[in-house]
Amino acid sequence: MNDINAKKENFYAIKLKNNRIIWIDRGKILMPDRKIINSMKRRSQEIYHPDKDVFVPVPPFPLNMLVEVTNACNHACIFCANSKMTRKKRSIERKLLQSVLIQAYDLGTREIGFYATGEPLLYKDLDWAVNEAKRIGYKYIYLTTNGAFAEVEKIKTLVAVGLDSIKFSINGASRTCYKAVHGRDDFDKVLENLRQIKKYRDKEKVPLRIYSTFIITETNRHEVDVAKEVIGARCDELLFFSEGNQGGYMSQRNKPATITLPCSLLFNRFHVTCEGYYTMCCVDFQNYLAVADLNKVLVKDAWGSNLAVAMRKKHLASEVSGTLCENCVECKSNLVKPLLSHLATTCTF
Ligand code: SF4
Ligand code: SF4
Repeated sequence: MNDINAKKENFYAIKLKNNRIIWIDRGKILMPDRKIINSMKRRSQEIYHPDKDVFVPVPPFPLNMLVEVTNACNHACIFCANSKMTRKKRSIERKLLQSVLIQAYDLGTREIGFYATGEPLLYKDLDWAVNEAKRIGYKYIYLTTNGAFAEVEKIKTLVAVGLDSIKFSINGASRTCYKAVHGRDDFDKVLENLRQIKKYRDKEKVPLRIYSTFIITETNRHEVDVAKEVIGARCDELLFFSEGNQGGYMSQRNKPATITLPCSLLFNRFHVTCEGYYTMCCVDFQNYLAVADLNKVLVKDAWGSNLAVAMRKKHLASEVSGTLCENCVECKSNLVKPLLSHLATTCTF
């Protein structure tokens, strides 16, 4: 082993003989670093099906973090809870975001996605945020967008300051079907943006990965094969997913649960809401799983807080009744309670 990057007192990166890197913080081994994966499918596998040793009440601080830079969206997809969300629409404060970025990096996070329940290209400080994350040292910076505002010039700027990959969410393969799913007539615009970005990427040979996803619903199921041609040909990878119940917020669509306990999201990813809260789920539209206010609590303390640990223990014991996770895994619409009522916006499900 050799010390390759003594960053500050008590915080080291150590390279092993097999070239893997581990991070040591005050004598404690953090999540191993690893080569950035250039495959959306494999990345998704890593998040949703991690190694078993991560399933402990206080896991190492995650390699991966999602920041909800805004919860506003310009679309109204039929499978998404965004348009029925009653939480106030807002964007994250720069000062808080900067503080979270620095703290999480020092704890071992190296990948950051700037999105959660809204459309990140509506966030006016996105260039600044990507630049700041790269400056701090994040290795992989990505976002998911509906693509309506993903004009090539805007994406060029984001790539110049450090964006590594962009994922388009395109849930129709024709103008009519797209409008029926997204609630907006933006199909042509989105496809053109995707085409232009790929053309720019290929011509300039910039190291930008371009991905797309297609959520299958009854409305667009018949277009799956066409989507492979129309969308798949314009990006590096296109993945199909069946619609889910969105963390229990869309259980009325009554799709069978695909999530099993313990849910990996509580154990191997850190999620920050636009208010600056730590929530244990990336699709927590009403903050029912928010457990700490990062405006008042350090990131490290939020991750190891009593409430976070108690919720992980519930998952490890497969006993989540009365929480949002019960609605999610059992596809119910019960009137469950938030973990911290003052951080949540209560709803009727
Ligand atoms: S799926 Fe994405 S684009 Fe569609 S409403 Fe939800 S946040 Fe907006
Ligand atoms: S609601 Fe709970 S079980 Fe469902 S995805 Fe979110 S964290 Fe996982």
